[in-house]
Amino acid sequence: RPPLSNAILNGLNDAQRRAVSSDAATVAILAGPGSGKTHTLASRVVWLVDAVGYRPEDVVVATFTVKAAREMKERIGRALGNGRESKIILGTFHSIARRYLAAYGRHIGLNQKFGIADESDSRAIITRICKRLQLTVDPAAARVWISKRKAKGTETSAKSARPEAAETPGLQDLETCYREYQGHLDRSSLLDYDDLLVRCVDLLRRFPSCVANVQTVLIDEYQDTNGIQYELMKLFAQRHQRITIVGDPDQSIYGWRSAEIRNLWRLLRDFPATDEISLEENYRSSQSILDLSLLVIQQDTKRYQKALKPIHDKGSRPVLRKLKSATAEADWIVSEIKRAVLLSGSMLNHSDVAVLLRSASLSRHIESALGRAGIAYRMVGGFKFYERAEIKTILDYLRVIHQPQNNDALARIMNVPRRGIGEVTIKGLIEEAESSSLSLWSLLLKHCRGDRTAKTKITKHAEQRISGGLLRPLETIRKRIDEASGCSGTPFGLVDMIEQLLTTLNFQKHLQDVYPEDHEQRWVNMQEFIQLAADFVREIERSGDDALPAIAELQQTKEVEVLPRFLANVSLASDAQTEDYGQESKPLVTISTIHAAKGLEWPVVFVPAVYNGSIPHMRAEDSDEERRLLYVAMTRAQSLLYLSYPVYSSSTNSERNELSPFVTSVSKSFLKKGPCFDRPVMKEIARILRRKLPPEESIFGSLPAMFNVEDNLFPVDPEELGHNLTGHGPDDAPRVKRPKLQRLPNGQDD
Ligand code: ATP
Ligand code: MG
Repeated sequence: RPPLSNAILNGLNDAQRRAVSSDAATVAILAGPGSGKTHTLASRVVWLVDAVGYRPEDVVVATFTVKAAREMKERIGRALGNGRESKIILGTFHSIARRYLAAYGRHIGLNQKFGIADESDSRAIITRICKRLQLTVDPAAARVWISKRKAKGTETSAKSARPEAAETPGLQDLETCYREYQGHLDRSSLLDYDDLLVRCVDLLRRFPSCVANVQTVLIDEYQDTNGIQYELMKLFAQRHQRITIVGDPDQSIYGWRSAEIRNLWRLLRDFPATDEISLEENYRSSQSILDLSLLVIQQDTKRYQKALKPIHDKGSRPVLRKLKSATAEADWIVSEIKRAVLLSGSMLNHSDVAVLLRSASLSRHIESALGRAGIAYRMVGGFKFYERAEIKTILDYLRVIHQPQNNDALARIMNVPRRGIGEVTIKGLIEEAESSSLSLWSLLLKHCRGDRTAKTKITKHAEQRISGGLLRPLETIRKRIDEASGCSGTPFGLVDMIEQLLTTLNFQKHLQDVYPEDHEQRWVNMQEFIQLAADFVREIERSGDDALPAIAELQQTKEVEVLPRFLANVSLASDAQTEDYGQESKPLVTISTIHAAKGLEWPVVFVPAVYNGSIPHMRAEDSDEERRLLYVAMTRAQSLLYLSYPVYSSSTNSERNELSPFVTSVSKSFLKKGPCFDRPVMKEIARILRRKLPPEESIFGSLPAMFNVEDNLFPVDPEELGHNLTGHGPDDAPRVKRPKLQRLPNGQDD
């Protein structure tokens, strides 16, 4: 075969090529959006393995989201071949840390069966503590405070929190809350997101041999790493000090989660011989989109300046539209989506469109407008599939199977399905458990064994149902898992386990009783969940176990059970990140938070609610970060960009919204109405779509034409179609035959 190393470099520009093949130990690529940072990073991994000869298992790659990790893996896999990518230690910082803790955690005293408290778990625990102890702190603020404390890499264990340092009463309460919270996590063998990183830092400091094999570390979206992640990166690279980072200070949008742009300058200080490379060509967006985005970000005068020039034509000017209400705004978006699909002669389809929101709560109007128009969509980031009540219940059952001492999960399922136990009793039980340092599980067992010393009273009937409907079936399942992992029984798969739970709990009946209106949809969600579990198992079977490369000095715990890995995967996926679900075969419009859209791109992007109070958000502390957020949103767009805002956000609020101050000074540069699909614009769209190639094609530089652009520019007559495009019903848009595009035989464009 031709040397892969040449193929990797083909199709890259000079600076990218230099970055991919740099011999320097530390390489920092600082460049603007769409300049190919991620593409270059993936190519560098391929280069390091194939041309330099590192073993894949000695390469660590950290991405910011779960989805980015999956895409990176696929991309590298297609270039490397032979499944070599599955050995690379690749994932988000949190998932990499979890892997190391699962393998070596017992050496630092971690319970081998630890669970993960995701953000909503953490919030719930803190809220309960604040209520119980009547602390005068806002639980949400306390969560942020605790997280910041941990992220700074300072003390984390409950013992080392120092209440005597607290002088102000508020601070004292925060310290108390922190201590109680950490105590609760420790008792339940739970790690929150911060703990995963903190404990991994501890592990790697004390047992450097865990990472003695690591040759090199590569990090995408470096601008959003926090203090502990920086520590982790250095620890992973401690043996050879070989680090590649790519990032863009202008896209730092996680300051609220303790990300520190400072880490960039820290890197250059700690590794003075760093090869700094800048990429200056934007491959993503049309010139007018890039120009306007730059005008927005350049209002920040303190920023680190870097060059970024478009390589594409002007294209269509972005649109800025003011609408009466949020409903009108959503309807307008839907009509523009229809117009774009139709007038582009169906070159664009629904999967080319994303609606990017400042906050998840804005999605309601958009969802219902799309629903009315019969346009299918998927939700990404912030809106969590796993947080749907029915899914969460089954997950809680699985969590309790995995860790009976998980009081929070057990409390949530105690009366689901209904077992005749009231809120007050549950609260009483939790408090009793907490004050007697018993787990809730043990307390319930005590009750059901007829031990009358328990303080909280439960009716005989409830007791029977807890014993027969909750404790016993879960015990049975746990026993089967133990037997299976001891190889003495028949294998007991994750999917079997879920199905057995659903049957034992008579779950479908429970849904019918509790959700008479939409129990069917919820049952469908359940099937979807089973499918996700099945996919997860299949993926594990394909890529083998999660074991890390063996080292002689330190014994590794092999994770034989699928359940903990599945639960961890779920907990980490819901980290304001991406999870796809829905009918993948249909082209779907994407609705995403801006935060979760980082690193991604779409031909058509809508950014609604661009008003003062939404962006910048009224509660945001850092206005520059809010501007960067808008910049990130705008620079996701390739061909068409639409900004909009409603004058009134809701019918109950009579306050008028003003256009976001980030946009006012440049508002004249926007179009007021939808784009005109004239020839240059159509050509520009076709250009974007033609570039939608499978990644290995771009790595190898062979770029066969996907469409015969010139012939298909106007497959339908816009004039003819344009008249009926503002309606909202599913049926009032004229049906158009999809024009014949000359596709590649394997038609990869959808
Ligand atoms: P962001 O800052 O938003 O994460 P990025 O710098 O990581 O952006 P990429 O996502 O890597 O940019 O690349 C943007 C687009 O440009 C992708 O579609 C990528 O395939 C394409 N691209 C990158 N480099 C080249 C190149 N040399 N030739 C053609 N297309 C390229
Ligand atoms: Mg990127």
